[in-house]
Amino acid sequence: MHHPLPETLVPRRAAQQALALAGTVPPSALPRLSEAFDLGGPVTVALNFSQLDEHSVRLTGKLATTVRLHCQRCLEWFETALEADVDVEFGPARAEPETDREIVAGDDQPLALTEFVEDELLLSAPMVATHPEAACMPPGELRETLSTGAVRRPFGELGHLLGRKEPD
Ligand SMILES: [Zn+2]
Repeated sequence: MHHPLPETLVPRRAAQQALALAGTVPPSALPRLSEAFDLGGPVTVALNFSQLDEHSVRLTGKLATTVRLHCQRCLEWFETALEADVDVEFGPARAEPETDREIVAGDDQPLALTEFVEDELLLSAPMVATHPEAACMPPGELRETLSTGAVRRPFGELGHLLGRKEPD
C-alpha cells in the first residue's frame, strides 16, 4: 500500500515519530532526473527516520526506478534499474566521523523530499552506461575483432575511448 509522501518534513520531528515512508514519485515531479534520464516509471521511495543520538537523525532507505540508457559499448538503448541506498545523517558535523555516511548540517531544517530523492538518485547514477557484459552485442566491426581470438580485456575499449594509456 502506498501512502502519499509529504512535500517537506523536518528530520528531527520525523525521527521523534520514527517515521517510515513508502510511496512513489511520478517523473513529472522530478524535473532534473527526468532531464538526465529517460525514466521508465515512477520512483519507488522507502525511507525510515530514526534518532541516532540527541543531536542527530539518521535516514535510511531505498529509492528505485527504471531508466532507459544508451549503451556506450554497443550504442543500443536498454532499460535498467536505477537504485540508490540511502544512508544520511542530519545533525552537527563530526570532526572525526566514524562512518562514511553523508552528513547534512542541521536536523531542524525542512527537507524537500522530491529534491532529496532526485539528488540521491543522480549521485548514484552510473557515469558510463553499458549493458551487463553478457547482454551486450558489440557492433559488427568490434564483434569481428573479438571473434578472431583477441583476448578481451574488460574496459579495454573504454580506456581507449577515453584516451587513457595502458601502463607499460
Ligand atoms: Zn551494449
